[in-house]
Amino acid sequence: MTKRPPMAKLRTPRYGLRIRRQYEAVLAKSKAKYKCPRCGAEALRRIRLGIWKCKKCGFEFAGGAWEPRTSVSTTAEAGLARVTGR
Ligand SMILES: [Zn+2]
Repeated sequence: MTKRPPMAKLRTPRYGLRIRRQYEAVLAKSKAKYKCPRCGAEALRRIRLGIWKCKKCGFEFAGGAWEPRTSVSTTAEAGLARVTGR
């Protein structure tokens, strides 16, 4: 019986180029400018993970971790609009 080292699997190069590309894309997203939902100025900045603030009017809100609007939040908003009736 041969004893296989238990950590051998962890040494395989699992985190390659692809995941790095994704990370870079996400990083660029978080640095991009977004429109403020209140005043419409492109002055939205991410001040913390998931917290966005407009430099122009000071409007602060919780959004996606990497972008102010995520597919999840837009779906939630659509559902909310349906319930409240516009
Ligand atoms: Zn604003």
